[in-house]
Amino acid sequence: MEYDEIEVPSDGSKIDVAGDDELVVPDDPIVPIIHGDGIGTDVGPAAQTVLQAAANATGREINWMRVYAGESARQRYDENLPEETVDALREFKVSIKGPLTTPVGAGFRSLNVALRKKLDLYTNIRPTYHLDGVPSPVKRPEQMDMVSFRENTEDVYAGIEWEAGTEGVQQVKAFVEEEMGFDSTIHDGPLGIGIKPITEFGTKRLVRKAIDYALENGRDSVTLVHKGNIMKFTEGAFRDWGYEVAREEYGEEVITEDTLWEERDGEAPEDAVVVNDRIADNMLQQILTRTDQYDVLALPNLNGDYLSDACGAQIGGLGIAPGINLGDGRVLAEPVHGSAPKYAGQDKVNPTAMILSGRIMLEFMGWDDAADLVRDAVERAIVDRKVTYDIERQIEGGEKLATSEYADVVVENIEEMA
Ligand code: NAP
Repeated sequence: MEYDEIEVPSDGSKIDVAGDDELVVPDDPIVPIIHGDGIGTDVGPAAQTVLQAAANATGREINWMRVYAGESARQRYDENLPEETVDALREFKVSIKGPLTTPVGAGFRSLNVALRKKLDLYTNIRPTYHLDGVPSPVKRPEQMDMVSFRENTEDVYAGIEWEAGTEGVQQVKAFVEEEMGFDSTIHDGPLGIGIKPITEFGTKRLVRKAIDYALENGRDSVTLVHKGNIMKFTEGAFRDWGYEVAREEYGEEVITEDTLWEERDGEAPEDAVVVNDRIADNMLQQILTRTDQYDVLALPNLNGDYLSDACGAQIGGLGIAPGINLGDGRVLAEPVHGSAPKYAGQDKVNPTAMILSGRIMLEFMGWDDAADLVRDAVERAIVDRKVTYDIERQIEGGEKLATSEYADVVVENIEEMA
């Protein structure tokens, strides 16, 4: 494909997809990167340096290709999300992005949500594990080792909503009351209305990804987290369709919790993945009180947002928390945090979340050795108390480093540990 503003590296090869979604990754892949808005200009280059060091240390080379969204795109294209950026992410399959600012106000939909929709990145994965030395608000942060699979395209995030005072909201209210028989359910006066679609298609493809991941990575359980006791036909359906996938699409390696008790006295077969479910509010307690009993979580969009941030807080907060978006044969890594505009360009913030997002990207590329190096090198920097401001303010005797200095320390660790 020809691009106007994007420079495609002359060296390097394209990542390919075999079958529906198996990535075929050469040793010199071209990988698009969006540095992002605000602190993206700090954490983007830092992550790029660290990931390249890990690739080089394991005999490979990443050929980075800068692509643009948000502020950097407005300067070049006069729009926030140019079509050629989306085309590049689609063509090169595996990419990484920093945070993008979503201005508050009417008429501006989140670029992140738009990007996930356009590329059909229907799963957001957030691994939460504790890195040695990272301060945490809980007593035993090392018990946390969960991976949440959040549905990325539907639920109240679908963007089907009507503003108070508009004709649309009155039409929907009239339809609900007069045609659907929900009389006297909605209070009189100004109101906003949103729709919460949860489909069998959207649920099942998400739950499949979670179960496949659990099987491939030797995990013990997948927990469907829902509020089906109240929202019976949306979140309750999510639970039911999730169980259908577990019962109908896998053999003996996947077993549901009720079958386990009915037929096996609670004893799971070796290497089997147990699928169970928990109500979302209970789950927010469980992650604190029974942290080590949960493994992989599958969640509708909003539950996923709340729960993965709560899990992230237990292992050290936003500067640390990585994420990745997954579609069929497509990967876009991105940190959980936003663009923190007040720190933009100060070479100050913690690039760990973006670096560890890149680490998951390396895992999905099948470069487990490079991914392990990144994790170990980051952990060593923190254990050595060579950290950015956000960690330094929480520990005794830390050395406060700039974003770029911290990245240099991680690179030195990679080179020593390789
Ligand atoms: P934020 O950018 O995540 O920042 C909130 C606070 O979190 C910061 O003030 C800082 O806390 C801490 N923090 C975030 N990233 C950090 C890092 N790398 N190192 C150290 N500390 C970090 O959240 P926000 O202020 O609510 O959102 C700002 C913009 O980002 C909004 O436009 C929002 O829509 C957007 N956003 C984008 C994404 C995305 O691109 N995926 C995600 C979330 C939000 P202290 O000040 O206490 O140090």
